[in-house]
Amino acid sequence: MIVSAKKISDVTGYDVAIADPEATVQDYLNALNEAIENLGLHRGRARRRTCKGCDLCCAERLPLTVIDVLRLRAETAPDAALNAWLERYAHVLAEGPVVDITMSRPIDGRCCLLDRASRTCRLYSARPLVCQTFICSPQTKRARRLRDLIVNKGEDQLVREWLLEARRTGSDPVIHEGYNAAPRLKDYPPTPFEGKEKYSQILLRDICTPGLWKELTLRL
Ligand code: SF4
Repeated sequence: MIVSAKKISDVTGYDVAIADPEATVQDYLNALNEAIENLGLHRGRARRRTCKGCDLCCAERLPLTVIDVLRLRAETAPDAALNAWLERYAHVLAEGPVVDITMSRPIDGRCCLLDRASRTCRLYSARPLVCQTFICSPQTKRARRLRDLIVNKGEDQLVREWLLEARRTGSDPVIHEGYNAAPRLKDYPPTPFEGKEKYSQILLRDICTPGLWKELTLRL
């Protein structure tokens, strides 16, 4: 996985490319985390060099993948069932058949895991994929599309498992905010996240559309 600096609109942003056909989502995360530290990226919003002490992205919509929940649950409430964990730490929005599961952002609109005094994450090592890959500098179209696709597939699998648990237990799935909520399992078929417990088990080529894979494996 290659993350390289790229001038976009006159500031330093980044691009991604895939060199190894066996690259995993974990390889992508490792490369981006390293780039955040070393590439000298422009910090458009915070106007600072490092993320530490900046909580701007902790007030954004924070979609969760099924693996994010496994990692966070292991650190917060390892024995909790999925719906019980979501009730406490997430926000489930259901509008008709569409479901969006995000981190809970209570009262002041910032994430429930943010330490308000230090403005740092209380579970930084287990923070969700969307947090690890939130870089407030410009990115190329293919870099943005890859991130969106991983997040969407991982969230869709979470919704599937949320519905499956409710079916198994015969209870209603937790919904914090609903508008004619009518989620259906058939709208959430299995994704490449199914049965996986770690990002290192998911190949990027299984996530990408053929078109995006072709674009990402081209060195520009
Ligand atoms: S999980 Fe941590 S990094 Fe992510 S939004 Fe919450 S406080 Fe911020």
